[in-house]
Amino acid sequence: MSVTSASAPAASRFRSGSGRLCLDFMRTLRLRGMKGATEELATPEALAAWVAQLGPYPAGTAVPAPTEAVLRQAQGLREAVHTLLTAARSDSGPVGCPPEARDLLNRSAAAAPPAPALDRSGALAYSAADPVEAVLADIARDALVLATSPALERVRACGGPDCAAWFLDTSRPGNRRWCSMETCGNKAKKSTWRSKHESVSGG
Ligand SMILES: [Zn+2]
Repeated sequence: MSVTSASAPAASRFRSGSGRLCLDFMRTLRLRGMKGATEELATPEALAAWVAQLGPYPAGTAVPAPTEAVLRQAQGLREAVHTLLTAARSDSGPVGCPPEARDLLNRSAAAAPPAPALDRSGALAYSAADPVEAVLADIARDALVLATSPALERVRACGGPDCAAWFLDTSRPGNRRWCSMETCGNKAKKSTWRSKHESVSGG
C-alpha cells in the first residue's frame, strides 16, 4: 500500500529533468494533444508514486494514495498549469489565463507546501501532513511564479517529433532543443547519423 522510492528502479517510472516541477508534472499527460496521448496519473496510486519520485521527501518516505477526488483535483491542476503557461507564452501573457484555471491555481497554491526541517545531523528533510496535497501546492506555486517571471522566455517545447514535453532551457547560450539528452536528444542524434550514413553510402 505504501509507496516508497527506496529501491532505485522505481525512480525512473516518471520522466523528470524538465528543470521545473510544474513542467515535470505537466508531462504526466504524455503526448498532450497528439496521437497516442497517455494519462500517466490514471489512479491514486500512480499520483502517490509520482509524488514519491519527484516530491522533495526523503527516499523511503511513505506516500499514502490519495482519494479519487484528490486525483481529479491533481489532473485538473495539471491542465490549469498547461492553460496558464500557454497563455503566458502567447501574446496575451498571463492575463490571458481563463478565470477557472487561475482560481484553481490560486486555491492550490494557498495550501501549505512541504516544510523543510533541519535534523540533528545537519541534514534538511521535507515533510508534510498530507504529502500529496503539499506537493500539489508546490506545483501550483511553481507554475504561478514561472508564468510571471523572466524564466518564462526560456520555456521551450521539445524538438522531438514524438514528444510534447516542455522544459526550461538553462543552457548558457539558450539553444537547448530536447527535453532530455537520454531520450529525445539521443534519438535525434541517431537519426541524423543514420540519414548522413545513408546518403554517404549512396542510398
Ligand atoms: Zn522530448
